[in-house]
Amino acid sequence: MNLKSMTLGEMTQLFKEMGQPAFRAKQIYTWLHKGVRGYDEMTNLPKPLRERLAGDYPIHAPQVVRKQESQRDGTIKYLWQLSDGNCVETVLMRYHYGNTVCISTEVGCRMGCAFCASTLGGLVRRLEPFEMLDQVLFTQVDSGQPISHIVLMGIGEPLDNFDNVMRFLELVNSPEGMHISMRHISLSTCGLVPKIDELAKRNLQLTLSVSLHAPNDAVRDTIMPVNRAYPSQELLDACRRYYTATSRRISFEYAMINGVNDRPEDARELLRRMKGLPCHFNLIPLNHVEESPLKPSTREAVAAFQKILEDGGIPATVRRTLGGDIDASCGQLRRKFTKEQAK
Ligand code: SAH
Repeated sequence: MNLKSMTLGEMTQLFKEMGQPAFRAKQIYTWLHKGVRGYDEMTNLPKPLRERLAGDYPIHAPQVVRKQESQRDGTIKYLWQLSDGNCVETVLMRYHYGNTVCISTEVGCRMGCAFCASTLGGLVRRLEPFEMLDQVLFTQVDSGQPISHIVLMGIGEPLDNFDNVMRFLELVNSPEGMHISMRHISLSTCGLVPKIDELAKRNLQLTLSVSLHAPNDAVRDTIMPVNRAYPSQELLDACRRYYTATSRRISFEYAMINGVNDRPEDARELLRRMKGLPCHFNLIPLNHVEESPLKPSTREAVAAFQKILEDGGIPATVRRTLGGDIDASCGQLRRKFTKEQAK
């Protein structure tokens, strides 16, 4: 296993077996979680040990291949190249409550949502825990902005890479590492029901975001293939179980698509189906993806939809779109880059 994917406990065991003093693991763990690019930066380690580690456990660090900074709102989008040549995106957003990074959990995605650029080329591979951690670390190092919040809403389906994502959460939450509170982390899923139940068992204090995007199966089936495996009623039941287990209010993502899911009766149907489930709706005007015929809802349709939800007692916010001038959403930059490389 990559050293940076190991917990402090595992590293302590490893260094003990290597005959190193007990404090070594913690020293190295702390360095790795600062985002160093080589062992020579670990100035408090003896040189022979640094050389040995460089041979046995080379440090992987992603390279910036594209960096786009929004002139409007300071959003920065990174396209990173991983050690095997694959690329993933990370977005840094400045909110009043703190700097938030949106990280990718897979190279590509196999969920096939009709409106999403990340899934167009399918799933290439899942990310290792350290590759998710690296996105946070190196975004912080490169931008010089301290990161306090994380959203798992980049490329990939986090619950389709469950074990690696759980390990990443443990790493980034650890007091000797970045120590980012679970309450500052949101995990977004397209609705893998058995994995939502598995997550509920862990009883983490993170925010679960569910990409709902439709009031019923008739609509959801046409835009999200996952709905055929786990229909919306099963998904909503899982959300209720999740709330019962964790007492954490669910956040529903709802991309507003012109003429598809944005009618007043769609909002009213949602109200009926959400009865008794403490939740919050994030209405996101669809980001247009070149390859897709789907178009964003009008501003008026979004406002009317929001009003119906709110009047019915469901808090609903219209997501402020950040970084619209830099392809900041959902796999668009990676897509562009991959297409350019193929030419
Ligand atoms: N796979 C996870 C997380 C990644 S996508 C999930 O499905 O939740 C993060 C969010 O962006 C999801 O809600 C996704 O449905 C949404 N999204 C994807 N493409 C979009 C687009 N073109 N416009 C608006 N939202 C989009």
